[in-house]
Amino acid sequence: MKYILAIDQGTTSSRAIIFNKKGREVSSAQRELGQIYPRPGWVEHSPVEIIESVKTVIANALLSAELTADDIAAIGITNQRETTLVWDKTTGEPVCNAIVWQCRRTADYCEKLRREGFAEKIYNKTGLVPDAYFSATKIKWILDNVEGARERAERGELAFGTVDAFLISYLTGGKTFATDYTNAARTMLFNIHTLDWDEELLRLFDIPEAMLPHVYPCGHRFGETDKEIFGAAVPVCGVAGDQQAALFGQLCTEKGDVKNTYGTGCFLLMNTGRKAVKSQNGLITTLAACVDGRPDYVLEGSVFVGGAAVQWLRDGPGLISAAAESESAAESVPDNGGVYVVPAFTGLGAPYWKAEARGTICGITRGTSRGHIVRATLEGIAYQVYDVVKAMEKDSGIKLGRLAVDGGASANGFLMRFQADILDCEVVRPSVTETTALGAAFLAGLSSGYWTDIDQLRQTVTADKVYSPNMSQQTRYMLLEGWKKAVSGLL
Ligand code: ADP
Repeated sequence: MKYILAIDQGTTSSRAIIFNKKGREVSSAQRELGQIYPRPGWVEHSPVEIIESVKTVIANALLSAELTADDIAAIGITNQRETTLVWDKTTGEPVCNAIVWQCRRTADYCEKLRREGFAEKIYNKTGLVPDAYFSATKIKWILDNVEGARERAERGELAFGTVDAFLISYLTGGKTFATDYTNAARTMLFNIHTLDWDEELLRLFDIPEAMLPHVYPCGHRFGETDKEIFGAAVPVCGVAGDQQAALFGQLCTEKGDVKNTYGTGCFLLMNTGRKAVKSQNGLITTLAACVDGRPDYVLEGSVFVGGAAVQWLRDGPGLISAAAESESAAESVPDNGGVYVVPAFTGLGAPYWKAEARGTICGITRGTSRGHIVRATLEGIAYQVYDVVKAMEKDSGIKLGRLAVDGGASANGFLMRFQADILDCEVVRPSVTETTALGAAFLAGLSSGYWTDIDQLRQTVTADKVYSPNMSQQTRYMLLEGWKKAVSGLL
């Protein structure tokens, strides 16, 4: 009996989860990852620590399941997207720290690109808006600022990769230099229509093509682990960026399927099938994970403050002592009492795009209690998700049928019920909420033949809870009007 190992290298931690044939978690291990802040707004990770943390969690996950590397049929990798590494092709030695997706060091350069009118060209090719998040300007920064990097890159000595490519290179003992469509799609160098690195963008950012990894579908035999490093030669057969892995882990493989992850922020992805939908509402167009052939397209939108609003209730005004307590506090009142909380603590994302907006509480009366504020905060998360879903529906012309949910705050029954009510559709939470790791495992298992097809996977996935809408149109309409009024005060 063999197992699938999923490596989930995230922004704040590295994790390894071992799954069995039934898609159930057999064991897992996690290790925090240090955040390096060299200057305000800059964020880095140590590449050595990334590797060390991954090695440790793999060893611990195997140990706690009493398994060895020989028991693993295939490996799947999922990772924090856009984070940029540059290393020596021969020695594997990184030339500097990894520049993390959150790092704003190239924000001015991106602003210049927008001013010079490159936004449309970049969007048309990559589906992205020129922003410091994406890898291209981070690579350029490394070549321009790390001594000798540009000359070495031009001589073909350096490799660029997102975390997946860096890990694949390490695990295969430097034999494989490759990435997958979903990670490539976040670099701002990859043409999502032709599925190739884009020469014109490479010229624009002054990046030598020789630095770039081969790009394969997410389900692909990327290479075998080096025995010395992993303990056995095991194929790496699945790779996808974290959000796309979660979409796949939720089995949102059909046109119109949508998932939302309620973490610190909220990440919504809609599968739009074979068609790359151009957004008129500030959403990003990107690629979905696929086992082989051409990937589907995805519309992606995020809410900056999701579960973080619950952390604020706890750490700011101290209205709750733990995140889970928000549920009973919200249920202690029959309704929001006319209170609306817009948790725009760090600005408003799609579809408003107001970076300078800040949070607000409105509708407070003498009768407003702790329960009302907590309830209105949870409702504020759900309304923001509603706004992104409506933008997706408008752009794609597809009406949402059900919302697949995961992430920390999806444990909140009140929030999920209210989400179903306000969207007027079913909200489905799977029993395995580690959908990111599960997605990487599914990709690896499908492409290695461990599982036969998606239908077999559907049998392994069970819903923990289905929330059905149960609110009158009149109430929904009234609440949404209240929300619109509260948000419009910030626009
Ligand atoms: P991330 O991956 O972004 O760190 P997680 O998926 O681990 O996020 O979710 C953590 C977030 O979920 C926190 O912001 C926390 O406040 C929120 N959260 C956790 N449990 C609950 C709960 N029961 N109700 C509401 N929010 C919760």
